[in-house]
Order: sequence, then structure tokens, then C-alpha cells
Amino acid sequence: MSPTPPPAATGRPRSRLLRALKIGGIVLLLLALGAGFLAWRMLRVETVRIDEHLHVLLGGGGNTLLLDSPEGALVVDTKFSFPASHLQKEAQRLTGKPVKMVIDTHYHFDHTGGNPLFPGAEFVGAPRTREHLIAKEALFRPGAAGEKMLPTTLVSDGKQWNFGDDYVDVRYLGVGHTDGDLVVFLHKRSILHTGDLFVNGFYPVMDPEAGGSYRALGPTLDKVIAIGAQQIIPGHGPIAAPEDLKRFREYVGLLWDHVLSGVRSGKSRDEVAAGFDAARFHLEPIYGFSSVRKNLDAAFDEATAWLAAQPK
Ligand SMILES: [Zn+2]
Repeated sequence: MSPTPPPAATGRPRSRLLRALKIGGIVLLLLALGAGFLAWRMLRVETVRIDEHLHVLLGGGGNTLLLDSPEGALVVDTKFSFPASHLQKEAQRLTGKPVKMVIDTHYHFDHTGGNPLFPGAEFVGAPRTREHLIAKEALFRPGAAGEKMLPTTLVSDGKQWNFGDDYVDVRYLGVGHTDGDLVVFLHKRSILHTGDLFVNGFYPVMDPEAGGSYRALGPTLDKVIAIGAQQIIPGHGPIAAPEDLKRFREYVGLLWDHVLSGVRSGKSRDEVAAGFDAARFHLEPIYGFSSVRKNLDAAFDEATAWLAAQPK
């Protein structure tokens, strides 16, 4: 006869398994809550009234500017596809008219995802933005929903016109976040939409594959600052004052100068990163798209390639 095992011997593994399942469940729940919170932060849209005819819709992808006119509204940047339906409803509620014109500050899908919701609008963008949309964003390929919502009014330098009660001034100021970033300045109100050339409170986001460059971003930002706008709508983050834009430009300059001199003196990637202190700027990462290390690494790659291409 085999001896009966004591009850504790079978109980312990089962309770351990239960405890592991419980912990696993809690971890999954926390992960789901975290992902839900991130999605909520990314997709929620906040409408800010500037005056009777001008609203800013923050979040849901890139920030949006909405200017009313008797003939229809002007929209600058159309957000991710999903929150764009909220933008569409808000545009209808706030202006009571169809959207007449859409300006795409650049090609990224968090700024252009809603283009297909505004059929009949005139689409404005830089020539490079049109090319990037066709080459890089599935939404704008032949047969897709955005095929006919590509910019056809192309701005390679600058274009100005009266719209509603303001004077709209669209400019291409040089390479920065991509090689096709437009800024939109409303003269009467002295309000400027910068697209992602400027993100307020966040580390810069760079798209080197679409021609973006840290070396170029600083001088381009100098031109943005020279416009002299009193209020600034950044690509992401809260509405900004001129000082916020100037501080951001200072960070970009500090980053590029630090990395370039490090690469010039033969430092490694980690050595360059270890010597950089940007705590005083109080910037935050953007959901995996930007961080101080991402900035340093991308600038390191750019500085290395740029120095290698210089005549000896
Ligand atoms: Zn962008």
C-alpha cells in the first residue's frame, strides 16, 4: 500500500498557481488600463474658443485650427482618422457650414487622417507633403479613401489670401520636422499654427526619412519666431506663448551643438548622451515618438553622416 501524501503537499502548488494567476490578472488589468489611458490621452479632443469665428481643437492627433467664414470653414490639420469624426461634428456645430478649405501642415497621419471626411474642400499643402502622402500613407494610395483628398493647391514658398475676417498667410520656411512643413499665420489675430515644427512641452519629433533634420530645424525655427505671432498653436501640446517657442528653439540648438561637437571629438553615442543635460527645459516624451534619448540618437546619426559628407 502506498502512503497517502499529506494534504499540505497538494495545497501549496495550487495556492501558488492561484496567486500567480491573480498577479497575472492584475498585471494584465493594469496594462489594459495603462493602454486605455494612453489611448484616451491621444484621442481625446478639447475645443478652445478663441473668439466667435476661431476655435482650436487640441488633441486627437495634431492640434487643429478652425476658422469660420460666410462661405465655409478653414481647417488646419485634420487629426487621426477616428477623432476626425469629432472634428467634423464640431466644425458643423461651430460654423454651421461645410469645410471649404483644408491645410495640411505636413503629411503625418495624425495631421491628415481626417482629410477624407471633408469631400469638396480645397486641400492645401507643400509639394513634398503631397509626395509623402502618396508614397508613405496607405490612406492616400490609389483606391483608398484619401485618394482624392490630397493637396492640389501646392505652396512651395508662400501664399496669402483673405479668408472670413482674417488674412491667411501660409509659408514654407525650410526643412525641419520633415522637408514639407507649412506654417499658417492669421495676421489679424496674430495666431500661428506651426505644425510639428514646434511641439509645446514635449521633446521634438523628427522624421529623417521624410527629410527632417536637427541641423536645419534650428534656423527654420528662427524664421518661425521672426513672424512675431503673439499666440502659437503647436503641432501637439497646449496653446503656447512666444517664450515657449523660443525655449523650444533653444533646446534644439543646444541638442545639435552638443551632439555635433561630441561626434567631432570622436565620442561614442553613449558618451554623447551621458554628457547632455536638458532637465531645465522640463520636456516630456510623446508616447514612444520622442524622448531625450531618441533626440540624441537621431541627432548623433545625422551629425555623423553630415560630418562624413563634408569635404576634408
Ligand atoms: Zn508630425
